[in-house]
Amino acid sequence: MSKVLIIGSGISGLTCAISCASRGAHVILVSPFPSERAQSVLAAGGINAVLNTGDGDSIEQHIRDTLKGGCDIAGEKAVRGLCTAAPDIVRWLESLGTVFSRDKDGEIGRRAFGGQSYPRTHYAGTATGKQIVTALVMEARRYEGLGLIERRFWTDFYGGLIKDGTCYGAMLYSEATRTIEAVTADAVVIATGGQNALFGKTTGSTQCDGYTAGKLFTQGVDLKNLEFIQYHPTAIETDQKKMLISEAARGEGGRLYYEEDGKRVYFMEDLYGPGGNLMPRDVVSRCIHEAGRQVYLDVTFLGREKILDRIPEIYELCLKYRNLDITREPIPVVPSVHFFMGGIAVDLHHRTCIRNLYAIGECASMYHGANRLGGNSLLAAVYSGKVAAYDIKDTKTGQPDWSDLIKEENDKLIQKRNSSSRFPVMYVRGMLADTVNSTLGIVRDKATLENGITDIDYYLGIAGKINYDRSELEYYNYSLEGILTLAKAVLISAGSRCESRGAHLRRDFPERSDSLSKATIISYDNGKFTTRLSGEDEYEG
Ligand SMILES: Cc1cc2nc3c(=O)[nH]c(=O)nc-3n(C[C@H](O)[C@H](O)[C@H](O)COP(=O)(O)OP(=O)(O)OC[C@H]3O[C@@H](n4cnc5c(N)ncnc54)[C@H](O)[C@@H]3O)c2cc1C
Repeated sequence: MSKVLIIGSGISGLTCAISCASRGAHVILVSPFPSERAQSVLAAGGINAVLNTGDGDSIEQHIRDTLKGGCDIAGEKAVRGLCTAAPDIVRWLESLGTVFSRDKDGEIGRRAFGGQSYPRTHYAGTATGKQIVTALVMEARRYEGLGLIERRFWTDFYGGLIKDGTCYGAMLYSEATRTIEAVTADAVVIATGGQNALFGKTTGSTQCDGYTAGKLFTQGVDLKNLEFIQYHPTAIETDQKKMLISEAARGEGGRLYYEEDGKRVYFMEDLYGPGGNLMPRDVVSRCIHEAGRQVYLDVTFLGREKILDRIPEIYELCLKYRNLDITREPIPVVPSVHFFMGGIAVDLHHRTCIRNLYAIGECASMYHGANRLGGNSLLAAVYSGKVAAYDIKDTKTGQPDWSDLIKEENDKLIQKRNSSSRFPVMYVRGMLADTVNSTLGIVRDKATLENGITDIDYYLGIAGKINYDRSELEYYNYSLEGILTLAKAVLISAGSRCESRGAHLRRDFPERSDSLSKATIISYDNGKFTTRLSGEDEYEG
């Protein structure tokens, strides 16, 4: 029986755990908080699949839309696998108990989403993620009952147990015992989501901070396409975070406009015709940015009954956080950091460049190219979890002795815990968020990106001397260097792509360049960051 260590228990981690356990593996599933608190539960609008070809839709069209939406740098083989598996994935999720909404014929409900030729986003109201997580948690509990899945909470990734290009397990930190331990395994699967916390307030969860990607990068794992950061066009500002107004609102007919001389200008429709409001997210966010004024989303004309039936969570969210009744008033919206197309570089089987180390879900970069289509990431989270599980073999690799390393790391932690300095950790994290927000916005240029790198180098210089904040989780302290390293890698990747494509818009290079229709790979060696371009075929072998 193989032993699989899965770090992260959102939709991708849960799917992988269930798939490994169903193949007889022993799974250790690790996360600081329960799955019900993972970012996956925030997923609103739905999951893409071609279940119905009656209106002319097809899997081939889903593939074409995904490749086009990704601005021609996602790998065709990978996207083909994803879209072909999609119908079975939705049926599997339903068989586990995901309660999808129904249309008038009793079929699973579907709605239009941006960049799609046909409506193929299957939904459960605007709480699709919550429904899917609930079903997966139930299934995982069955395997917990059988002793095949072992759950660990209050536990964070600390680092990989990596030697000579092979991964033997991971160092895990327990917030309960405040110690690091070595957990060995035949395979380690990273499923830790995106990099939202780098930016502070986004639509996503601050649990997703990219630390695992940053730490593994320094341990020899290549990262890919980090410069492609999706700004969702429609969010509302609240004190705590930016709250997503799901694309479902525009999928149901919502219209974007701004006001000029007392009149409404439906700028997306003026620019792109009747389907303008549902252009891909990179296009809509860029147009809002260029409008340079407050933009509104109007759904009032849908009528109260339809709003409460089709997008009830959006109605409740606006009422709760902004005291705004969307059946009567338009919603003032702003673009917000939302999703990360880049992440850990993986091949078609979700293997990283380190043997026995896999990455799945949003932390891996594979299907979305330069811009993800809404509804494709829930699909990719489930699909990648299954693909990795299928590839994991019972390797029975002999284990090196990790005891000296673990003692050394625990000693380091104690030493840092007892040091004092004038740099509180949350202050440095705040400065990091200011830097990335001001340099990695919707539009970038060489000078600001370089300033960002200078800032991050300064923060890295003081990161070793921070004042450990005892009122916060210890994780926030020790993870700082990893997330700063990741931020630097993102800035360097963005600086290296001298063109505009998808979610990467350069003021100084406004055109797309055919010669750059490739992925950016960034590697780390002894403090040195190196970028190169790679054709997708390098990862499709
Ligand atoms: C508001 C919102 C709405 C969305 N709506 C949709 C939608 O309608 N359709 C769609 O396709 N996509 C949507 N997305 C995107 C989609 O939800 C995510 O891409 C997907 O759920 C990611 O799943 P995941 O399993 O990769 O990661 P997550 O669900 O983010 O799970 C990550 C897990 O890793 C754990 N973790 C993180 N760091 C560590 C660490 N250092 N150590 C241990 N554990 C760690 C976390 O606690 C968590 O358990 C939406 C995203 C947001 C923010």
